[in-house]
Amino acid sequence: MAVVETRKLTKVFKRGNVGAVNNVDLESREGEFLVLLGPSGSGKTTLLRMIAGLEEPTSGDILIGGRLVNDLTPRERGIAMVFQSYALYPHLSVFNNIVFPLKAQGVPKERRQKQAEWAASLLGIQHLFARKPRELSGGERQRVALARAIVREPSLFLLDEPLSNLDAKLRASAREELEQFQERIGTTTIYVTHDQVEAMAMGDRVVVMSQGVVRQIGTPADVYDEPADTFVATFLGSPPMNILPFEETLVGFRPEHFLPVGVSERPGASVSYSYHIDHSEYLGAELVLYGVMVGGAFDGMKAISRVPSTHAAGLTDGSTHTFWVGASDVKFFDRVTSKRTTASRLPS
Ligand code: ATP
Repeated sequence: MAVVETRKLTKVFKRGNVGAVNNVDLESREGEFLVLLGPSGSGKTTLLRMIAGLEEPTSGDILIGGRLVNDLTPRERGIAMVFQSYALYPHLSVFNNIVFPLKAQGVPKERRQKQAEWAASLLGIQHLFARKPRELSGGERQRVALARAIVREPSLFLLDEPLSNLDAKLRASAREELEQFQERIGTTTIYVTHDQVEAMAMGDRVVVMSQGVVRQIGTPADVYDEPADTFVATFLGSPPMNILPFEETLVGFRPEHFLPVGVSERPGASVSYSYHIDHSEYLGAELVLYGVMVGGAFDGMKAISRVPSTHAAGLTDGSTHTFWVGASDVKFFDRVTSKRTTASRLPS
């Protein structure tokens, strides 16, 4: 097991360009499931590949278990990696796929057998040993790839969108399985995804990245409830947080906190607004409303609301209602830097 640390880690692919990864300071915790989350091109894969030793940093340091590993090969770093396209060897049986890395290392046969059985039992795939990859479902292939990654008992697990080839239903069950598996083996894991649901569900902590820079590191609740800037605020959550300009600040509140008067009002101060519904989307459990604020500080500005279907009676397109938001659910951001600021006056 190991802790990973990056210090001012930077990768510039083309001279003169801004870094694909820019001065990233990161420190995992022992046994932690750390998720790198960000949109396409934000530098997640490049960061992971530098930690793995597959990409040479332009500058900065990487430490694993307190040891500087910049000059070590991937194998010397004691890392296992599973990629988006976890190519299994098609001509080898599941068993031989799993023991392949051990064979390459010259591990004796008996030990290989033992390790394969251990890895396969963790993932519940012993019964598949004799099959070829083409005879497996997507989820089973996924598990074989994981088994192949853990047979060497790596000190660190690096996963790059390993679930992205699975369909939605399988993805959800594979997600849960992977989470439980990581807990069982207790190996520090760094997991790359652009899927916020995956990040929130699996991560002990989430590292939100954009344009090569870390915007925020925190627990799923930290990054969702207390976003450090408007990027994090709008990247997490679907539909995103409403961000409305007011004087020197940007005022943010999530659609699920912007509700018709009478719906589960929270204790404490709140502020109400007149809200005109332009159109709505019925999503079964909830109704998503797209509308415009009427009068007051936000007159004419667009806002989104997410109302539980059980409270959606009368919220028809073209109607106007009084909506409220709890003061503690309103976040303020600096209009220039887009970073969080301390509460200013709550506009009404
Ligand atoms: P995705 O989710 O699409 O995989 P990502 O967040 O993993 O995106 P990276 O793949 O790390 O992003 O890419 C970060 C930036 O670096 C992108 O602008 C990309 O075009 C650039 N980049 C990545 N690899 C190379 C390369 N080998 N040569 C030049 N530029 C590269």
